Amino acid sequence: MKKAAVLGLDGLSWDYLNKLIRHGILTYTKHLISNKNTYAFDLECFPPSTPPSWTSIMTGVNPGKHGIFAFDFIDYATLEHRLFNAMHLEHPRIHEMLSMLKIPSIVINPIPGYPLIPAKSSKIISYTIIVPKTQYYPRNEIMKKYAEKINSALELKHRKTDECKRTLLASVNLVEAVFEIVEDIVNLYEWNLLWINLQIPDIILHKCNFQIFTKVLNIEHRLFKRIDNLARMLNELSDIFVIVSDHGFSTYNRLVRINDILAKKSYVKTTKKPTARALKEYKEIKLEILGKSIKEESYNQYGYVDKEKSIAFYISKWNLGIYVKAIEAIAKIRKILSSTEGIKWVKPREEVYLGPYVKRAPHLIIRPDYEGGFLQSDNKVIGKMYEEGEFKDHHPSGVLIVKTKDLRLKDKIKIPNYTVTPLIMLTLNLPLPKTTDATKELMNIISGEQVKIKFKNYLPKWKIMKSMIKYLRYR
Ligand SMILES: [Zn+2]
Repeated sequence: MKKAAVLGLDGLSWDYLNKLIRHGILTYTKHLISNKNTYAFDLECFPPSTPPSWTSIMTGVNPGKHGIFAFDFIDYATLEHRLFNAMHLEHPRIHEMLSMLKIPSIVINPIPGYPLIPAKSSKIISYTIIVPKTQYYPRNEIMKKYAEKINSALELKHRKTDECKRTLLASVNLVEAVFEIVEDIVNLYEWNLLWINLQIPDIILHKCNFQIFTKVLNIEHRLFKRIDNLARMLNELSDIFVIVSDHGFSTYNRLVRINDILAKKSYVKTTKKPTARALKEYKEIKLEILGKSIKEESYNQYGYVDKEKSIAFYISKWNLGIYVKAIEAIAKIRKILSSTEGIKWVKPREEVYLGPYVKRAPHLIIRPDYEGGFLQSDNKVIGKMYEEGEFKDHHPSGVLIVKTKDLRLKDKIKIPNYTVTPLIMLTLNLPLPKTTDATKELMNIISGEQVKIKFKNYLPKWKIMKSMIKYLRYR
């Protein structure tokens, strides 16, 4: 059977990738992209938020079927603000489907990464995105050694005062650790799928200033030389090699303040104090969970959304949804926001997502006019509907690069993020999940030859697999 390797690069956009190529850094990747068996796509990632997008990429279905809609959600019964984790995952990811077929895989950073879901034929290491401590499976000495290697790379502290350089140096250490683990593990265990997700370049683009979009820093150069070497190793080890990102990253010049707009129409009520009723931003919830305090001074200038008194509110920055308590208000709010400059569209959740878990999503989904330079703001109320300035953040256009000799593909087009896993399974000649949303897209990009697509229902076994979490859960 063939081997597939996937390098997941969080937040990689075509612009940033091209910047690195222009500066002569990703020389191997450049050569790979120009290969006649390599296909490049614009990957459509909505919402352009890390947990739902990676989950769509790894499952082959939209959030309505996999259940992860954002970093965070509001428990509609209690109004409690909570974070999504692997307990909410309702559809198997590619390595879990392969495991059901008894096909071995190695995965570094499945998403959601915690709690770790044991999959018999998988070797798993998980350290990224709300994972309390490096997790590994199976619980043997070899895997423990790898987890310790990651832990020591994570613990290395750099004394640079510049946050950007510190992040870059920490990333260099991590990539070196991952490289050594991959070099070792591929010879120890059987595998047909090797999938690595790195929080790079997302973490760098968030921490560094705007120069990162045009210039190349020395440490950035060092980091991407290593990423390029990792790409080379993965390509040489496999028959099918994929580079994929969960969203792009871009610059914007205006913020549209959705809760301010809703406050003006009296749907949002505010409170001055950060009490339990006050709506926090996702990052503040994360800090609270980690036991860190939030800067008090940044609080006082803002009005918080009062979750109890408000009729409707926009949940958080990358949630992109509005929770509406009074169902009759949905149509009115949709009308108000649809005619607001900076918002491309507002749709009921049922028009954006499809599947048994759609009701977990906020009632209305918003798509800001990213192309017009608009970005959604945080969830506070400050008395202004717009803010002007220089902003940088996620963008719904990601990267997909596929090298395969087995299929001829129609490329240079836009395809949705849930197409990635079914495409890989098809090139490996495996049955696709019956639930996949990508059949139409696959038929569209497979040009010329006849490919017979087989399907399988992976859901019954998934429920048993997920129930195994409790035997492995630890901190
Ligand atoms: Zn991301």
